[in-house]
Parts: sequence; structure tokens; C-alpha cells
Amino acid sequence: MKFVSTRGSTAPTGLGAAIAAGLAPDGGLYVPAVLPQLSTADFAGADTLPAIATRLLTPFFAGDPLASDLDAICTRAFDFPAPLKPLSTPQDHVLELFHGPTAAFKDFGARFLAECLSRLQKNGQRPLTIVVATSGDTGAAVAAAFHRQPGLRVVVLYPDGRVSPRQAHQLGCFGDNITTFKVQGSFDDCQALVKQALNDADLQAITPLSSANSISLGRLLPQMSYYADASLRHWRTQGEPLNLVVPTGNLGNAFAGVLARAVGLPIGRIVLATNANDVLPAYFHGAPYTPRASVPTLANAMDVGAPSNFERLRWLYPDDNTLRGSFQAHAVEDATIRDTIRQRNDAHGEVFCPHTATAIAILAGLRREGVPGHWAVAATAHPAKFESIVEPLVGRPVAVPAALAELLARPAHATPMAAHYPAFRERLAQLP
Ligand SMILES: *Cc1c(COP(=O)(O)O)cnc(C)c1O
Repeated sequence: MKFVSTRGSTAPTGLGAAIAAGLAPDGGLYVPAVLPQLSTADFAGADTLPAIATRLLTPFFAGDPLASDLDAICTRAFDFPAPLKPLSTPQDHVLELFHGPTAAFKDFGARFLAECLSRLQKNGQRPLTIVVATSGDTGAAVAAAFHRQPGLRVVVLYPDGRVSPRQAHQLGCFGDNITTFKVQGSFDDCQALVKQALNDADLQAITPLSSANSISLGRLLPQMSYYADASLRHWRTQGEPLNLVVPTGNLGNAFAGVLARAVGLPIGRIVLATNANDVLPAYFHGAPYTPRASVPTLANAMDVGAPSNFERLRWLYPDDNTLRGSFQAHAVEDATIRDTIRQRNDAHGEVFCPHTATAIAILAGLRREGVPGHWAVAATAHPAKFESIVEPLVGRPVAVPAALAELLARPAHATPMAAHYPAFRERLAQLP
């Protein structure tokens, strides 16, 4: 399969090259040149997440040198489960995507990307340095996935004082080929430093750099797998399509669900849940698409004012009316996030992270309107990762999952750095 740009002025590119490049040369995002069509019968005999992922991704890898490794890539990347669990309200479920090493869904995409890039790195080639700016979850997932991968290094930048204490600890606890900087500035300052480095040809001649943000095909494609796995299992046992509510920031996770439905998996409606950053809900309610600066909320991994994968949604549905008719999007204020976390715990003993709570609140609203069917909320992070928000609301400690506890038990170190490009450039040029 070849990949083309959403902006249409890039020659069709092989998968490995598209993954290595990140952004297409015309500034657009890579998308498949044709969408494969699969049916539930194509998955007969595939019963595990890695087996279903391999079946699903085979057409996308066809003809690429990485194809012969796809089975091994899926087995290594998806070595933790994504269970679909019933909620106490009938026909409602959560798809738990937080059982990976850093307790957020980004572990799936980051681990898959790391497996691909480590195979694309030739022996004896200079190490490739992945630079990531993070508001919390991405950096930890990428650091965990690339830790000790030969030929690859990671440099993480996070805004000092603006991530949760547990997030900060995770970002600094790896060492070895992972270097972490706490930047005196905002997330936008971190992102600006990364962009400047990626565009610095002289620096790249000394230290080859790449990125791992949510537009990467190497993160997007594997994220289809857990929707395929959950919807197929549900179809096999219930004979019903699974409808989805997905907590949404840059639209990477939700767009993977959109693609999974488009290639033929038994997924019904897809509803986008946002926090107070309501660019998408405003668009789906009929306003022109208007990106704006983000505002901080309790669900900080979704504090996005210009969702980067919107361009892919537009590519799949070029007509505004068709696009608006194909999805719903709703926004949830912080007060509702708080109420949802408190009430679901009090009434049912169910504890959610602030991101997942946006989608839980929206599903509850749909049910109040009488919306029928079988629904799953994508649970994007474990509540223990956001204990400073969740614990006061539920009035008790939230047990820390084993993988997260292991990271928190390690020593952590981050080097302070000013939000000043020459200083950052110097550090990158001097990496061992
Ligand atoms: C990144 C993240 C999101 C948003 O995902 P997008 O792919 O950016 O839409 C939601 N919840 C959590 C916990 C996240 O880390």
C-alpha cells in the first residue's frame, strides 16, 4: 500500500518512508492511498489483540519491507490487554486502554512506532533522536517505548510545574537513551523548541532528529487495533455493532476508530467527547471550523485548540454536510467532569480519570435522551495517574497499577532548561 498526503501534492510513499518522515513534504498528513475493505469473516480464527491487529494491518503493510515483521511488531507492541468491561448501566461498557507501561492509551501507538523505527534504523547508522514536547502523557509513553531500543534516543521536553507530580516522575525515570528537560515555560514553548530543532538543517546534519507526535502514521494505524478487537469480540458474542464515545484532543485516538469503521469493522456511531476546548463540538453543531488557543482544564491531555488530525477527517469526508452527519461531538465543562467522577463513584463504585469522565458524562446524556444500542467509552488513562484530581472527589486513595508503581519506584531526574533555542540546540548537538 502507498500513502499520500491530505494536501494532495506529494508522490505516493511507502509505509516505512511515511512513518520515518512524520509529516508529508507538502505539510499535509499521510493517509492510505486506498482504504482496504475487510469483513468480520476476514478475522476468522484471530482471537487475540496481536492476531487481530496483524490481520487488520496486513493490507496497510503490503509491499513494504516492514511487512515480513508485522507479526513480530504486533506481538511486541501489544503485549498488554485492552479489555472491554461492562459498566453498571445496561449495555454500557468501558474499553480500558490504560494497561500499558505508562497507564495511558498512548502506550499502544508509541510502542508500535518504536518497533517500526528500530527496524527502519540500519546497523551502523548514526542514532536517530526522537524529540518530543509533552503536556504529560505523550512523553512518558514515548520514553517507555523507546527505552533501550538500539540506535534510537529520546529527548523529552515538558513545562516545569505544569504536569502532575506523577507525570513528572514518569518523564524523568528512564535514563539510558532517554534525556528529560524541564523547561521554564509553557507546553507551547516546548513545542516551539521542538519545531525549531526539526527545521534546523545544520543541526540535523550533526544529529538526525525525528518526532513522534500524534500525526505519525506509526501511532495512528496501530490505534485501530483495539477498536477492531473490541468491536469484533462484541459482535461475536452479542451480534450488535459497538457504538463509541472517545475522549478527544488532537483526534488521533478517535480518528483511529473512524478508520476502523471505514475499513469495515462492526462499529456503529462515533461520538467525540471534548473538554471546554470545544472547537470540534462547535464545528459539528454547524459553525465554521475555527481553531483557537487552548484553555487549561482538568482533562489536560485534551487541552487542544487546533486538533491536528482534523485534516484527516476532512480528507475522509470532504463534504462538510456529510462530515457533520457522520459524527456527533459534545463538550464537557470542568464542573461536569468533577460531578461525573464523584457521582459514578458514589453510585456505582466506578472510578474514572478526568479524560474518561468527559466521555462517561456524554454517554449518560445520550442515554437520558433515549439513545439505544450497545456503547463503549474509551478509557484513555488510569485514574491513579491523576490522583490529585480524582482522590479528593472519591474520598479515598486510588490503587496504583503495578506497571505505574514500578516506574514511580525508580529515581527520576530532569535537567532544568530555559525556553531558549540556542541552549536547546547546544544540548542536542552534544548528546553522547
Ligand atoms: C492524549 C490523550 C487524550 C487525547 O487523545 P487524542 O488522540 O489527542 O485525541 C485523551 N486522554 C488521555 C488520557 C490522553 O493522554
